[in-house]
Amino acid sequence: MDLNLSGQFFGQQADDDALQSEVQKVIILGGGPAGLSAALYAARASLEPLVFTGQELGGQAAATSVIENYPGFPEGVGGSEISELFHQQAERFGAKFQFDMVTEVDLSQRPFKVTTESGTYQAEALILATGASPNHLGVPGEDRLMNNGVSYCATCDGWFFKDKDVVVVGGGDSALEEGILLTHYADQVDIIHRRDELRAGAILQDRAMSNAKIDFVYSSVVEEIVGEEKVEAVRLRSKKTDEVTEHKTDGVFIFIGHTPNSQIYKGQLEMDDKGYVVVDQLMQTSVPGVFAAGEVADPHFRQVATSVGMGAAAAIQATRFLENQ
Ligand code: NAP
Repeated sequence: MDLNLSGQFFGQQADDDALQSEVQKVIILGGGPAGLSAALYAARASLEPLVFTGQELGGQAAATSVIENYPGFPEGVGGSEISELFHQQAERFGAKFQFDMVTEVDLSQRPFKVTTESGTYQAEALILATGASPNHLGVPGEDRLMNNGVSYCATCDGWFFKDKDVVVVGGGDSALEEGILLTHYADQVDIIHRRDELRAGAILQDRAMSNAKIDFVYSSVVEEIVGEEKVEAVRLRSKKTDEVTEHKTDGVFIFIGHTPNSQIYKGQLEMDDKGYVVVDQLMQTSVPGVFAAGEVADPHFRQVATSVGMGAAAAIQATRFLENQ
């Protein structure tokens, strides 16, 4: 890279150096709905929050094609569209954004230390909003055929399955919602669920069951994803008869829940047995000055609306914490 021609590169470096040498009032980890909402509230409280968004702005919401249950959008709103609106609104009030991954945190003393791929930063308060990631089945073929027919995001990859047959694994809201979305592309969508009763809510169940392109395969587990270069079939075991069958398919979409992205906090604050950060009703973690919001701290609701609310609450409480210091 010719550094002399890259004014933007020099500008960015200068900013990074300044940000690393000063102690920030608040650093927000995560750029999903919770982090972006916390950024807006912290910015409006004149805390000039520094936000590390990770690789992609908007988190899981950005990978959702249409969000139909976020209040204020009667016709629904695109996940990436609303994420960009959240971002612009927070930036307008002075939030600073870095598209950088946090690799380590030190919560042992204040100011807290946050290490990213580009350097080390310090802050008087932290808001942890690192979200959650999709669970894997952990069966043979899954990792090898990832991006060659195995996917965890229908919005991202559905288009590649135009006029093809796919299977969806899972019986919750995500599986049905994403399965319905896949019918916009695929010819046939078979939803494979390990029990004979779905977990998803009634509205999604009605919609999926009345969709002519969707069939259900109950009481079955995927034991292997089969294929040389790309997915060709799944091997299914019936939980009722123990019979193993091969089910031909072009794609496997897996929606079997999530794991919180809390590994970097392990041993430094209280978490539950699944790794969710434990917060009280004021979004306070077990470490004073460290707050958490959104799916990293929420095994129950996991909605854009609830994450946005948690993010706002965490920023309000961080503001009060700093005022009392
Ligand atoms: P979820 O509700 O935890 O459902 C996960 C599904 O995967 C369950 O049906 C579960 O089976 C199955 N499963 C788990 N581990 C499995 C494994 N190893 N092999 C095979 N199947 C496995 O997860 P989710 O659907 O992602 O939803 C999470 C939360 O987000 C829920 O609270 C949901 O209401 C919410 N959500 C809401 C919407 C919406 O409102 N439109 C959309 C998406 C998600 P069992 O049923 O047997 O446990």
